Amino acid sequence: MSEVTLSKVVKKYGQLQAVHGIDLDIQDGEFVVLVGPSGCGKSTTLRMIAGLEDISGGEVSIGGRVVNDLPPRERNISMVFQNYALYPHMTVRENLGFSLKIAKADIAEITKAVDAAAEILGLNELMDRKPAELSGGQRQRVAMGRAIVRHPDVFLFDEPLSNLDAKLRTQMRVEIKRLHQRVGNTIIYVTHDQVEAMTLADRIVLMRDGHIVQVGTPLELFNTPINTFVATFIGSPPMNLIDGTVSGEDAIELSDGISVPVPANARGKVQTGQKVKFGFRADNLMPQKHSVQEEGQKAELELTVTLTEPLGTETLLFTEVAGTEVQAKMLNPRPVHPGEVLKFDLMLDKCHVFDATSTNAVRG
Ligand code: ADP
Repeated sequence: MSEVTLSKVVKKYGQLQAVHGIDLDIQDGEFVVLVGPSGCGKSTTLRMIAGLEDISGGEVSIGGRVVNDLPPRERNISMVFQNYALYPHMTVRENLGFSLKIAKADIAEITKAVDAAAEILGLNELMDRKPAELSGGQRQRVAMGRAIVRHPDVFLFDEPLSNLDAKLRTQMRVEIKRLHQRVGNTIIYVTHDQVEAMTLADRIVLMRDGHIVQVGTPLELFNTPINTFVATFIGSPPMNLIDGTVSGEDAIELSDGISVPVPANARGKVQTGQKVKFGFRADNLMPQKHSVQEEGQKAELELTVTLTEPLGTETLLFTEVAGTEVQAKMLNPRPVHPGEVLKFDLMLDKCHVFDATSTNAVRG
């Protein structure tokens, strides 16, 4: 079994506390992505699991065994780094087999493990090349192959796709997901990129300032963010947020005299006079005739488009609601010119309310 448990894990670098006593249970075979802005403590957390950083407080367990004092090689983990860390003077085959050779495995065993990894990752044609003769994506694949040959309980990935261009990153993302489907190991993956987190994770762990803010499936974080930080970090474009004041049991007053009903999910939870952020995603503000036909309560808004971003099957429209710039989504787009006034439907059942002071979601 290879479940990973973090219990009140703390990391201090001198005066600086980088990780503030986090708790996390990762199931055997789960693909968990630690995501958050730069400096939030995700690499430090991963490196403590790997044994590359001392743990200042709390416990890390792998497969039910506390590993705080075990060196990395005794934790049965494999780590894939951003810079690949391949040996430049060795061929792909030698790179793949190196860790087994060091562990004094016999030659037949090394050959078998290396051939199996090469097969899984499509490296068969490249076995005699040196790293300098490979593309970035191929090097990344070798780095993953090197992790596989050791049959670790847990794979740890630290920003493995950061050095690749956008297209290759998308391809490698699919390969990593396929790899997980084939080998089924526990994976803990660090990235600052919310798209990578959304597309890869069984569960996302969103961190900020050394704390875990929210843990959940990609859709849980997308649909029910617990605060404005999650609402704006997860999802592209970020959730639109407009300042408002609760003006009665059923209404929120935005500036410019616009009043919107309190969304069903927050009804009965708000107080008159409460300062709030009224939130909705671009997908829930769509021009009429260019939207998903959905049942539910709608508000019609007439808005001036200020800028457009055509993306093919959809176009993002920038406009203003109550003095705040927001983004809307147009499906089956036609050309729209800045200055054009369109009628939009705002899907009220999909809107969110956050307390302006605490930034926490107000939800029933
Ligand atoms: P992330 O991976 O989320 O970008 P890190 O885990 O690398 O963040 O860093 C978390 C915090 O710890 C940051 O404030 C960073 O500057 C600090 N930090 C990381 N490594 C060290 C180190 N070796 N010495 C001192 N401070 C460090």
